[in-house]
Amino acid sequence: VATLEFQNVSKSYQTATGPIEALRDFDLTIGEGEFISIVGPSGCGKSTLLSMASGLAFPTQGKISVKGEPVSEPVTDLGIVFQTDVLLDWRTILDNILIQPEMRGLDRNAYRPRALDLLKMVGLEGFEKKYPYELSGGMRQRVSICRALIHEPPLLLMDEPFGALDALTREQMVMELHQIWLETRKSVIFITHDIQEAVLLADRVIVMTPRPGRIAEIIKTDLPHP
Ligand code: ADP
Ligand code: ADP
Repeated sequence: VATLEFQNVSKSYQTATGPIEALRDFDLTIGEGEFISIVGPSGCGKSTLLSMASGLAFPTQGKISVKGEPVSEPVTDLGIVFQTDVLLDWRTILDNILIQPEMRGLDRNAYRPRALDLLKMVGLEGFEKKYPYELSGGMRQRVSICRALIHEPPLLLMDEPFGALDALTREQMVMELHQIWLETRKSVIFITHDIQEAVLLADRVIVMTPRPGRIAEIIKTDLPHP
């Protein structure tokens, strides 16, 4: 069963000045462990796709399902990483990661070992007692990735996760994300403006047209899969 499926999805927003057609006839099936990049100009509906996959917005037409289940309400078990991290400066790094299980009413202590493992995976071993303001932008995004992965989500959604980082950090984070993906084999949707980054990471790159966003082209890459 597909991890995520968009079936002929269109989305219009109602606004005071009339409807805005953000997305038209979007059709895509994402298999287990597949890495999909989505590139396209600003306003072509990339963020809208992620909002709909996580049940925060709904299609005007068409269907979306996660693991075969239609998305009809906010899906809390997806992992999401945004362009700007949403870490809380008054909580330690460890406590920031454990927010996820806390919010879901789970026993946070049960997740401690996994949180520490994830920190190790992203090269932040020993940083658990530090605070976000003590970390660089790249480090903060690494923590955001840990937080997104703590509850073993079936799908990792990333909306320009490295867009706010300097070029060098960004390049390094791309290599790290590739490594994380090789280790975890999560299904990933990765939104970016950077075609090179998209191609480097993905099994398939979805290229969108300007608004209304439609699929212009699907590029299959030849990643070496072990
Ligand atoms: P980006 O191009 O970086 O994805 P946008 O400016 O297109 O950022 O949108 C950021 C968020 O703001 C969107 O996810 C959407 O929810 C909201 N948004 C964008 N445009 C509008 C709008 N015209 N009215 C209300 N909310 C909007
Ligand atoms: P992208 O992420 O590719 O920049 P978005 O999904 O953020 O695109 O937005 C697609 C289009 O829909 C844009 O024109 C944006 O202004 C509009 N839009 C997004 N969210 C809203 C919203 N909540 N209300 C009205 N218009 C929106």
